[in-house]
Amino acid sequence: MSARIVLATHNPHKVEEFGSIVAAVRPDLEVVGYDGPEPVEDGVTFAANALIKARAAAAHTGLAALADDSGICVDVLGGAPGVFSAYWAGHRKDATANLELLLDQLADIADPHRTAHFTSTIALVVPRGPEHVVEGIWPGRLATAPSGAGGFGYDPIFIPDGQAPGAERTAGEFTAAEKNAASHRARAFIALAPLLSGL
Ligand code: IMP
Repeated sequence: MSARIVLATHNPHKVEEFGSIVAAVRPDLEVVGYDGPEPVEDGVTFAANALIKARAAAAHTGLAALADDSGICVDVLGGAPGVFSAYWAGHRKDATANLELLLDQLADIADPHRTAHFTSTIALVVPRGPEHVVEGIWPGRLATAPSGAGGFGYDPIFIPDGQAPGAERTAGEFTAAEKNAASHRARAFIALAPLLSGL
C-alpha cells in the first residue's frame, strides 16, 4: 500500500496539480484531498495561512499535510493586495473586480514604478513532526490594461520579468505550459521537492 499525503484544499484541480508534482519526486506517495473542517484563515502572512490550513488537515487526518497560499504583491502599495488578493474588491471574490480595482489604484503610476510579484507559499506539516514552509516568487510588473484570456485571477495584468523587450506578454497570454514552467507555484514546488524526498 502506498503512503498518503493530504492536500488542504477542496479544489480537485489543485489536488491533481500537486499530485503530478509529488509523483515526480515520490511516486510512492498518493496525494489525497481534504474534506474535514475548514479552519478560519486569519493569518496576516501567506506562511501563517498556509500553516493554519496544513496544521488543520494534519490534525484531522493524522497524515502529513500540504497547504498553499498565494497572491499578488505590488511594491508601490507596500506589498498589497498580498493575503487579500482573492478579496481585494470585497468578499464577493470577483476576479474581474479585483483586477479592475488594482488597475484603477495604479492609474497614475508610471511603468518603472509598477513592479509586482506573485508569491506562492507552501506549508508541509508532519503530525508530531516537523513543519516546513517554502516560497516561490514570480517577479514582474503590472500592465495598464488587461490582455490575454489564459490563466486566472490577476494573470491578464501581470507582465513577468525576463521577456524580450518589445515582445512582452502578460501571464494571461502565456500558454498553460509556459506558466507552469515559470510561475511562483512552480518555483515553490522546486523548493518543496527535497522536503518530500526526505519525508
Ligand atoms: P489562493 O491561494 O488560491 O487562495 O489564491 C489567492 C488569490 O491570489 C487568487 O484568488 C488570485 O486572485 C491570486 N493569485 C494567486 N495565484 C495566481 C496566479 O497564478 N495568477 C493570478 N492570480 C493569482
